[in-house]
Amino acid sequence: TSDLAVDLGEKSYPIHFPSDASAAIREMLATNVAAGRSNILLTDDGVARAQSKFLADTFGATPRLIVPAGERTKCLETFGKVLDFLAANRVNRQGVLWVVGGGVVGDLGGYSAASYLRGISYVQVPTTLLAMVDSSVGGKTGINLTAGKNLVGAFHHPKAVFIGREFLQTLPPREFAAGMAEIVKYGLLGDAALFAQLEQKPVDARSTELADVIRRCCQLKAEIVKADEFERAPEGGRALLNLGHTFGHAVEQVTGYTTYLHGEGVAIGLAAAARLSHKLGLLTPEDITRVEKTVAAHNLPIRLRGPLPLAELQNATTRDKKNRADGVRFVVMPSLGRAATRSGIAPSTVEAVWREVG
Ligand code: NAD
Ligand code: ZN
Repeated sequence: TSDLAVDLGEKSYPIHFPSDASAAIREMLATNVAAGRSNILLTDDGVARAQSKFLADTFGATPRLIVPAGERTKCLETFGKVLDFLAANRVNRQGVLWVVGGGVVGDLGGYSAASYLRGISYVQVPTTLLAMVDSSVGGKTGINLTAGKNLVGAFHHPKAVFIGREFLQTLPPREFAAGMAEIVKYGLLGDAALFAQLEQKPVDARSTELADVIRRCCQLKAEIVKADEFERAPEGGRALLNLGHTFGHAVEQVTGYTTYLHGEGVAIGLAAAARLSHKLGLLTPEDITRVEKTVAAHNLPIRLRGPLPLAELQNATTRDKKNRADGVRFVVMPSLGRAATRSGIAPSTVEAVWREVG
C-alpha cells in the first residue's frame, strides 16, 4: 500500500504503510542517529507484552519507558513521568519520541512531545485499529483530568506515522471491533462507496481489503483536517468526525468509562445519529436498518446493553465538550455517506432517540 501525505504546509507529514514495519522503522531510527538525533521509545505494558519480539528486533537498546495500559494512564502523573524520562535521558530539541501503541499512548506521548522543551518531534506507530484510522492522524494530543476526558491538550503533528497491519494480529477481537466502529463512521460521513463495501461484506482482521480500508479512512481524515486544522469551521469541517460521538460520549460518561469501549459507544451513537437523522426528515427507515445491520455485522452493539437513567443520558448529551454557546451541535446524515452539523435540535427529539436505542 502506497504512502499517504498529510498536507499541512510546513507541518506536512507522511503516513507510511510499509510491508515490513520493523525494517522501515529501523531505517528511520538509523537516519536519526546519523543526523545526531536521539531516539526514545514510549509504549504501554500491553503492547510490550503482545509485541515484545517486534519491539526488541526494532528498537534494540533504544531507551524505553513502559507505562501501564489503559485510559487512566492518560493523566497528569504519567505525563510528568514521560517528561522526567525525556529529561533524564538528556533528550534535546533534536530528539525524537517514538510512540508505539493505541490512542492512549499516542495522545499521552504526543502531548509530552508537544510540551517538552516547547516541542520536540514524535513519530506515531499505532498498534490498535482505532489508533491507525483515527488518533494517529490529525495532531490532536492530550490527557484527561479528574473533571473529564481530554481536557488538557495541544495540536502537535507527528513527524511521520507508520501503519503496520501485522500489529493487528495480536489485538483482542473486542478492540478490533471498536476500531471498526470508527471505520463505519468514515463511510457514513464521507465515503458512500466505503459504506457500501462494509455493508456488503464485513471487514475482519484477516480481510485482504483491510489495508486499503485503513488507508481510505486516513485519507478522509487527512482531507478533513487539512480543511479545518484547528476545528474552527462554523459548519461541517473537523466536527463531522464526531458523527455518532455526542451520543457515544454520553454512553461512556454515564457508565463511568468502564462498561463500553469508546468504539462501542460510537457504534450505539451511529445508530442513534441515524435515528436522529430520520426524525429530522433526512434518512428513511430503510437507511436506519442499513446502518444498524452494518454496525452489528462488525460485532458491535446498536442498543444499550442494559438500561441507563434517561435523565443522565440526556444531561450528558447536552453537555458534550464539543458544544458551543449556541447549543449542542449534532452531526447528522443528509444521506448515507454524507454528514452535516445541526444545532437547535429540540431536547424532546434527542430524548426520543435515547428511548429507541435504550
Ligand atoms: P488503548 O490505547 O487503550 O489500547 C487498547 C488496549 O489494547 C490497551 O490495553 C493496549 O495495551 C492494547 N494493545 C494495543 N495495541 C495492541 C496490539 N497490537 N496487540 C495487543 N494489544 C494491544 O485504546 P485505543 O482504543 O487505541 O485508544 C483510545 C484512546 O484514543 C482514548 O484515550 C481516546 O481519547 C483517544 N483518541 C484520540 C484521538 C485523537 O485524535 N487524538 C482520536 C480518537 C481517540
Ligand atoms: Zn472516536
